Parts: sequence; structure tokens; C-alpha cells
Amino acid sequence: MFHLLSYGLYVIASKSAKKINGCIVNTVFQVTAFPPRIAVSVNKENLTHEYITKSGVFSVSILSEDTPMKFIGLFGFQSGRDVDKLCDVKLIKGIEDCPVITENSLGILEAKVINQVDIGTHTLFVGEVMHGKRLREGKPLTYEYYQQVKQGKTPKRAATYTAPISDVAPVIKDSASQEYQCDVCGWVYNPAVGDPENEIPPGTSFTDLPDDWTCPLCGASKSQFSPK
Ligand code: FE
Repeated sequence: MFHLLSYGLYVIASKSAKKINGCIVNTVFQVTAFPPRIAVSVNKENLTHEYITKSGVFSVSILSEDTPMKFIGLFGFQSGRDVDKLCDVKLIKGIEDCPVITENSLGILEAKVINQVDIGTHTLFVGEVMHGKRLREGKPLTYEYYQQVKQGKTPKRAATYTAPISDVAPVIKDSASQEYQCDVCGWVYNPAVGDPENEIPPGTSFTDLPDDWTCPLCGASKSQFSPK
């Protein structure tokens, strides 16, 4: 039943002293109109969680439907503790120097934390919106579109992660149609679909992919894939 709930996809960003970071969440929602307030659920293990707790400010970037999977992989499947996620991304400085990601964003919101609730694995931050701006026209990326059209996966740290039901017997396939799964993020390469975003046409077997091809979601190399 959880899959019937609708969500979007957003980058939230924050700062701590001079360090900045951001991550993808799907749980941003408006909670009151007067005054304008929003809430977001963030995993406690995320570096961005630590930064929001310290600075009390965060920004929300509303992603466009045409956001490349690599961008989503960078913010959704990699940690700011391992890579500098913001070094090559277009952003501006917002209130109290909080980073605001403008790349692939239809609009942005900036908020100050007015309350936070410990809900176990996550913290629910409630923020008062200090500033908002539409950046360009376009369709916002919904979670349904991300999963069904872009074949995106849900990382375990997401608020809406549900464990897969693996009670289906594996199907033996010939090598040309064999699906391969990324060991890092779980994205599946299906030869029947190919990887159109990276100009790999449908019908290309996994073994025929170029050696420098990488996971469109997280950037992992070909050697980090296993037969599914
Ligand atoms: Fe991956």
C-alpha cells in the first residue's frame, strides 16, 4: 500500500561552517500556508542531516523530469563523506550562505528550521519558508516517473524504502538477454531497453557495452555489475 502514496524528488542542501552538502529526498511537503511552512524527513546517517542540525537552515530544489540519472545517482547514492557532491554543480548562496542547487531545478525554496521531531531512523525537520523562486518552466519529477520511466531505485536510507520480496525463482536466460544489476545502487541493465540516456540502443547485450560505460544511476563501473 505504501507504493500508492505519491511523492516528488528533491535535492535538499545545507551547510556547516564553510562545508556544504546536499542529498536527494522524496519527502518534502507543505504543512501550513499561513505562515508558509514545509517539512522534510531526513535519514540521520546522511551528512546533510548533520549540517541541517548544526546550521538550522536548508534549501529545497525541485527537480525537473528531464534530470539526468547521473545527477540523481550523485545526490541519491553517494555520500558527501566520500565525494564532494557540489564541486561541479550549479548553485547559488542563499540565506546564511546555505547552498541552493539550481542545476536541473524548476524552482527553489529556502527554509529555517523551527522544529524537529526524532522519528527513529529519520528526523522530521519543519521549516519556515524564507524565500522561494521559480527558475524555469517544466514538469516536476515525480517518484512514480523516476521509478517507472527512468527505472530508478530506492536507496536503503530513503524514508520510503521497502524491502524487496525475493520469493520469485530466478529465470535462466541466454547471455544476450541477461540482465545485470549494479552492486552499488541496485539499478538493473536490461538489454531489451538499453541505456538511451547514454546512447546505448535497445538490443545491446551487457557484454557488448563499451568498457568505459558506467551505471547511469550511481556511476559505478561495468565490473561492479553482477548477473541478475
Ligand atoms: Fe549503480
